[in-house]
Amino acid sequence: MAEDVDSYHSALIASALARLGDRLHVSDCEVANIHERAIIDLHLTDIVRIPRHLTDRLVNSGLAGVYIGAGSVIELDNLRFLDEVHPVGWRPTATYADVPALYDRNQKYIVAGTTMSNAVVRRDVLHEYGHALGRLIGLNTASELRERHADANYWMTLPPYVRGQYAGDEGGRRELLAELFRDRILNRNDAISRWGLRLTAWLDQELRL
Ligand SMILES: [Zn+2]
Repeated sequence: MAEDVDSYHSALIASALARLGDRLHVSDCEVANIHERAIIDLHLTDIVRIPRHLTDRLVNSGLAGVYIGAGSVIELDNLRFLDEVHPVGWRPTATYADVPALYDRNQKYIVAGTTMSNAVVRRDVLHEYGHALGRLIGLNTASELRERHADANYWMTLPPYVRGQYAGDEGGRRELLAELFRDRILNRNDAISRWGLRLTAWLDQELRL
């Protein structure tokens, strides 16, 4: 049984490496417990789920690394730049130890650990890939996304975490893109029912999905 789990895990790593090459860093797998291992494998599955041409486009646009492993994002942060830093938008006492995954726009890294309690629902790696796309390919400022988020009637239909402070708010718009991308990769019909056909079709066209 354990051997099967290990060979499945090894096959996933090989597939993810075929996508990302030396930009992929998977750490601490030998010490991960079975729960952590399942989350790491889910992260790897999602990396493999992203079309190869899109991964190539991200890498060519500057994606510098994808760090996956057991623990918090602080433990996976090889530059230690997250130490002592307060995550923007989180409660005042929060640290990056509380953040399950992130896209760092300065280092151009995606980092995903195993501290999230509802990883299966959230699918953080896909969400963070959405942020990377927003930054590196410029989708965050695309006119279609801006106009849609700024449309008050559409904005009112959105869940609070992608609204931001007001219709057209830049932070809310970035979250909308990240959520839309995650849902589109997982299931196109779900993306349409959550975010609408217009934005989903726009994303398909932009990313050639
Ligand atoms: Zn986000």
